[in-house]
Amino acid sequence: AYVITSPCIGEKFGECLDVCPVDCIDEGENQYFIDPDICIDCGACQAVCPVDAIFHEEEMLPEDEIYLQKAREFFGAA
Ligand code: SF4
Repeated sequence: AYVITSPCIGEKFGECLDVCPVDCIDEGENQYFIDPDICIDCGACQAVCPVDAIFHEEEMLPEDEIYLQKAREFFGAA
Protein backbone atom coordinates (compact mmCIF):
# COMPACT_ATOMS: atom_id res chain seq x y z
CA ALA A 1 0.00 0.00 0.00
CA TYR A 2 0.95 3.62 -0.40
CA VAL A 3 1.24 5.81 2.70
CA ILE A 4 0.80 9.56 3.21
CA THR A 5 3.54 10.96 5.43
CA SER A 6 4.49 14.16 7.27
CA PRO A 7 4.63 16.69 4.41
CA CYS A 8 0.83 16.36 4.16
CA ILE A 9 0.32 17.62 7.71
CA GLY A 10 -1.19 21.07 7.60
CA GLU A 11 -1.13 21.09 3.77
CA LYS A 12 -3.90 18.76 2.65
CA PHE A 13 -3.86 19.91 -0.95
CA GLY A 14 -6.11 16.98 -1.85
CA GLU A 15 -5.00 16.30 -5.42
CA CYS A 16 -4.68 12.65 -4.41
CA LEU A 17 -8.40 12.39 -3.68
CA ASP A 18 -9.29 13.27 -7.26
CA VAL A 19 -7.04 10.68 -8.89
CA CYS A 20 -7.46 7.61 -6.69
CA PRO A 21 -9.35 5.03 -8.82
CA VAL A 22 -10.64 3.13 -5.80
CA ASP A 23 -11.54 6.14 -3.67
CA CYS A 24 -9.53 4.93 -0.68
CA ILE A 25 -8.16 8.30 0.48
CA ASP A 26 -10.01 10.07 3.27
CA GLU A 27 -9.58 13.31 5.16
CA GLY A 28 -8.25 13.18 8.71
CA GLU A 29 -7.97 16.07 11.11
CA ASN A 30 -4.43 17.08 10.14
CA GLN A 31 -3.69 15.11 7.00
CA TYR A 32 -5.17 12.73 4.46
CA PHE A 33 -4.93 9.00 4.92
CA ILE A 34 -4.86 6.06 2.49
CA ASP A 35 -6.74 2.93 3.51
CA PRO A 36 -3.97 0.33 3.19
CA ASP A 37 -6.46 -2.51 2.82
CA ILE A 38 -8.07 -0.97 -0.25
CA CYS A 39 -5.12 0.72 -2.01
CA ILE A 40 -4.25 -1.14 -5.21
CA ASP A 41 -0.74 0.32 -5.47
CA CYS A 42 -1.39 2.21 -8.68
CA GLY A 43 0.83 5.14 -7.68
CA ALA A 44 -1.47 7.79 -9.14
CA CYS A 45 -1.65 9.73 -5.88
CA GLN A 46 2.12 9.81 -5.51
CA ALA A 47 2.50 11.28 -8.99
CA VAL A 48 0.24 14.24 -8.26
CA CYS A 49 1.15 15.07 -4.65
CA PRO A 50 2.58 18.62 -4.71
CA VAL A 51 4.52 18.11 -1.47
CA ASP A 52 5.86 14.60 -2.17
CA ALA A 53 4.21 13.19 0.93
CA ILE A 54 3.28 9.80 -0.54
CA PHE A 55 5.48 6.72 -0.58
CA HIS A 56 5.01 3.01 -1.06
CA GLU A 57 5.26 1.29 2.30
CA GLU A 58 8.31 -0.63 1.13
CA GLU A 59 10.10 2.54 0.00
CA MET A 60 9.42 4.89 2.87
CA LEU A 61 11.87 5.83 5.59
CA PRO A 62 11.76 3.73 8.76
CA GLU A 63 10.65 6.76 10.76
CA ASP A 64 7.64 7.13 8.49
CA GLU A 65 6.21 3.73 9.41
CA ILE A 66 4.23 5.48 12.11
CA TYR A 67 2.11 6.92 9.29
CA LEU A 68 1.08 3.48 8.11
CA GLN A 69 0.05 2.73 11.68
CA LYS A 70 -1.86 6.01 11.86
CA ALA A 71 -3.67 5.14 8.64
CA ARG A 72 -4.65 1.72 9.99
CA GLU A 73 -5.96 3.35 13.15
CA PHE A 74 -7.83 5.98 11.16
CA PHE A 75 -9.65 3.34 9.13
CA GLY A 76 -10.26 1.22 12.19
CA ALA A 77 -8.03 -1.64 11.16
CA ALA A 78 -5.50 -1.37 14.00
FE1 SF4 B 1 -5.36 5.27 -4.49
FE2 SF4 B 1 -3.55 4.39 -6.24
FE3 SF4 B 1 -2.82 6.09 -4.31
FE4 SF4 B 1 -3.45 3.58 -3.68
S1 SF4 B 1 -1.70 4.23 -4.94
S2 SF4 B 1 -4.14 5.43 -2.62
S3 SF4 B 1 -5.08 3.13 -5.16
S4 SF4 B 1 -4.23 6.51 -6.00
